[in-house]
Amino acid sequence: MKPVTKNDRLSVYVEDLTHDGAGVAKVDGYPLFIKDALPGETVTVHVLKTLKSYGFAKLISIEEKSADRIDAPCPVFEICGGCQLQHLSYEGQLKYKEKVVRDAMARLGKLPDVPVHPVKGMDNPWRYRNKSQIPFGQEDGRVVAGFYQPRSHRIADTDICLIQTPEADILMASLKRNLQDMGIEPYEEKTHRGMLRHVVLRKGRVTGELMVVLVTKKQKFPQAERAVEAIRAALPDVTSIMQNVNGDKTNVIFGNETINLWGKDIIEDRIGDVRFEISARSFYQVNPEQTEVLYGQALDYAGLTGTETVIDAYCGIGTISLFLAQRAKFVMGVEIVPQAIEDAKRNAYLNGFTNTLFEAGPAEEVIPRWYKDGKQADVLVVDPPRKGCDEALLQTMLEQQPERIVYVSCNPATLARDLRILEDGGYRTQEVQPVDMFPQTTHVECVAWLTRS
Ligand code: SAH
Repeated sequence: MKPVTKNDRLSVYVEDLTHDGAGVAKVDGYPLFIKDALPGETVTVHVLKTLKSYGFAKLISIEEKSADRIDAPCPVFEICGGCQLQHLSYEGQLKYKEKVVRDAMARLGKLPDVPVHPVKGMDNPWRYRNKSQIPFGQEDGRVVAGFYQPRSHRIADTDICLIQTPEADILMASLKRNLQDMGIEPYEEKTHRGMLRHVVLRKGRVTGELMVVLVTKKQKFPQAERAVEAIRAALPDVTSIMQNVNGDKTNVIFGNETINLWGKDIIEDRIGDVRFEISARSFYQVNPEQTEVLYGQALDYAGLTGTETVIDAYCGIGTISLFLAQRAKFVMGVEIVPQAIEDAKRNAYLNGFTNTLFEAGPAEEVIPRWYKDGKQADVLVVDPPRKGCDEALLQTMLEQQPERIVYVSCNPATLARDLRILEDGGYRTQEVQPVDMFPQTTHVECVAWLTRS
């Protein structure tokens, strides 16, 4: 028997916070997940749904507040799916993220004793995103733009977003105001009607360069010239305006075709001493200030003296590779997206690196071939997507036994799983350093350092 039923109203004590930021209260051992409730709080909740071993409840009122609770500064925090933790002080967020990483290590990695350092946070944890992807839509004949609501494709309409650049606010508000006058219909996902799907803004943190990408349903875009004028009026410093065409019924943002409407095809940025040219669709870390911290940590753990050969798996446009190439004898990067490899090669050339090699393909296929061809590595760096490393790649690591492995991860759960496999194969996890790349959200990035035992 479940101790609560749907529509019950009761008072509960919140004891924990899940990895996706919901409060957890237990009623006779039965966990209830409560959005926006914080550990240490006594709250009244309304039970929304009960499943066999857990349920969901809505926060109605707070009787006893957590000392870490603050007023979320964003006006749409309650309905927007972008941030989950604005109601928690920044110090509280960092402590929470450290605990998420520790729990993953202990529970999923069976590594309760691995040293997990306090999370490296930001001095100012706002306005940090250098890339904004703003969905446009319509509601009751009105243009709306902002970010999606949690687990939905309804847009939480807003004119400001406190984790994005001020330029994103200016652009969003200005386009929203002028779209109808320009005769541009925002896209409607339900009916696949309309033209403008997303507006993507990218800013070079160091260079200040700005790229705007208008993602349209069709290539034929007669209002392009007026749109360019409006964007240049709103953002006089803009350096690149592109159109990307996505005619598919999909929630993927970009389509295959990208057209220059005005200015340069790329924007440039710098991380540390390395310059990067970034094209409209390439992956580039969204928090450049913390990226420097993250890559600095990876470089530190790589322990380079200038004589090492390094493999950078999942290398994207070669950001980590080039950071490492400053101190290594030779760096080999592999990445599955050919366009990103083109960017990586161009960026190596642009910075005058002659000690790098990049190849497009799946890391789990390319790296074994490198080894077969006699290309040995002293250090292996991996930075896989959320699902973690491919099993075949982990096997290759265990067979080849590089001296050090540096594992950069955006998902503590898959990191812990993969560390367990590497530990069983003879590696020791020396330490884990979490870095806060995404303040106000539940995401946490980690760098783990492993040595052969
Ligand atoms: N290290 C880069 C990119 C990390 S994101 C940076 O810091 O900027 C992860 C990258 O892995 C993405 O660019 C993605 O395209 C790539 N990827 C995904 N699956 C892959 C695979 N099987 N083999 C190689 N690369 C892969």
